[in-house]
Amino acid sequence: MLRTTMLAAARSSAVRRLVEANPLTRTVVDRFVAGADTSAAIGVTGRLAEKGLHVTLDHLGEDTTDSRQADETVLAYQGLLAELRRAGLAHRAEVSVKLSAVGQQLGPDGEKIALDNARRICESAAEAGTTVTLDMEDHTTTDTTLRTLSDLRVDFPQVGAVLQAYLHRTEQDCRELAREGSRVRLCKGAYSEPASVAFQDKHEVDRSYVRCLRALMEGQGYPMVATHDPRMVRIASELAGSAGRAKDSYEFQMLYGIRPAEQQRMAEDGERLRVYVPYGQEWYGYFMRRLAERPANIGFFLRSLLTR
Ligand code: FAD
Repeated sequence: MLRTTMLAAARSSAVRRLVEANPLTRTVVDRFVAGADTSAAIGVTGRLAEKGLHVTLDHLGEDTTDSRQADETVLAYQGLLAELRRAGLAHRAEVSVKLSAVGQQLGPDGEKIALDNARRICESAAEAGTTVTLDMEDHTTTDTTLRTLSDLRVDFPQVGAVLQAYLHRTEQDCRELAREGSRVRLCKGAYSEPASVAFQDKHEVDRSYVRCLRALMEGQGYPMVATHDPRMVRIASELAGSAGRAKDSYEFQMLYGIRPAEQQRMAEDGERLRVYVPYGQEWYGYFMRRLAERPANIGFFLRSLLTR
């Protein structure tokens, strides 16, 4: 119920104005978002890399409504990738891209516009010596995103995909994508989805996550286990062990600001741990999805609105 309300608020411009107008919001946002610009993103990446962590950077923005905005997003990623290279961080950091931020929703040509724009980002990533993962958005975009992935992989075989365990279809998608050379980030899923396409019960989502993990670990690709759930982390390690996987043949991923001590502990224990670091001005949708995931985050948010 709370989750549904928060996810609805994530799409409401009235609530957005209210949240953004509060001067204390920024303090809380800073816990989850690296900063407003490229230099803040590079600074955080450098600090995480020094601690032995890997990074994927997300230039915040989604639901782009015109091609100029989509173009600006591409330029932002290109600038970021050039800076990563200059800072000697490209071996530690890749980028995560939402196709809706590069034009996927721009009418009947949206798919093609997003593909062309994503291709420009992939070219810059290849020049910098790193790669791209395509984030997954709501279920209406899954087929388009997977089509775009397969088009991009012709020239950029390292491009990764995200699959969401809450969707009924995902176990099958995992089997199909668990091929040699593919990189698949498995998450539970962050959007409000109808029962016709997604499991609604948390336990069912968890069971699906384990089935998907098994398919990925037993397959030939490179699984990226994106979760903060200690149980899923333990099961992923067990499945990797029973599939005979070496530590460098899969990785764990967590979000910036969530369980940072655990991120550090896992890296020190010899796991490859990648932190998803969002940055940029358009933090609202991302921030509200994080609050929706966890009542404790809402408590943290409300407390900081009330206290200085
Ligand atoms: P949950 O089911 O939310 O929580 C399970 C347990 O994890 C909790 O009981 C608690 O023990 C622990 N935990 C969770 N959150 C916290 C916290 N804040 N502090 C302390 N403990 C906590 N979703 C998409 O739809 N598309 C994407 O492209 C996408 N990319 C992602 C990339 C990464 C790297 C990550 C980590 C997540 C991504 N997500 C994405 C979000 C994801 O789908 C989930 O919404 C989010 O990760 C919460 O699910 P969870 O597996 O962490 O566990």
